Amino acid sequence: MGQQTRPVRALIALGGNLPWQDIAPERLLPKVFDALDGEEIRVLARSSLWRTPAWPDPSAPPYVNAAAAIETTLDPDALLSRLHATERAFGRIRGADRNQSRTLDLDIIDFGGQQIDAPDLTLPHPRATSRAFVLLPLQEVAPDWLDPLSGQGIDALILGLPDSDVTACVRIG
Ligand code: AMP
Repeated sequence: MGQQTRPVRALIALGGNLPWQDIAPERLLPKVFDALDGEEIRVLARSSLWRTPAWPDPSAPPYVNAAAAIETTLDPDALLSRLHATERAFGRIRGADRNQSRTLDLDIIDFGGQQIDAPDLTLPHPRATSRAFVLLPLQEVAPDWLDPLSGQGIDALILGLPDSDVTACVRIG
C-alpha cells in the first residue's frame, strides 16, 4: 500500500447523521476537514454543509453532507484506508446494514479521473452521479469536474436529477 510520487487531485464526499461524543454532524464535519488535512492529504477546498434527507429511510435523522477537493500523494487503496481510519476515529461503527445511520461516511468520488473496478474500490464512485447530496457540495469544490465515465460536467449532471432530489438538499452554511 502506498505512495505515489506526483500528487493527484481527488474528490471526497463526507456525510453523517448521528452525533459523536455529543458533537452534532454540522459541528463534526468541519473537524473532519481539519483531521484530513496533513502531509499526505492536502485539503484544497471545503464545500458548504448541506442538510439532506436520509436515504433510503427518510424517517432516519437527516444527513449533513459536504465535499472536499484534495491533493494526495497516497495511492487510491491507501487513501481509502486512511478514510476508513478517519471514520473510525470519529466513532463510525460498521454494521451489516450498509445504509444504517452513522457518525461519518467518507467516500472517494474521483481519483484523478482513474477508473478502477476492484472488490473494495470502485472509481469513479458508482452512485455519485445519481445523488444530489453528493453533486451539490461537489459543484462548490470542483465546478470543472467531468464524470470520467459519461464525460458530462457537474452542472449537466445536476440538471439531470429529479427536481425534488435537488430541492430536498438545503445549504446550511
Ligand atoms: P460505505 O458503507 O459507504 O462506507 O462503503 C462500504 C464499502 O464500499 C467500503 O468498505 C469500500 O470498500 C467500498 N467502496 C467501493 N468503492 C468506494 C469508493 N469509491 N469510496 C469509498 N468506498 C468505496
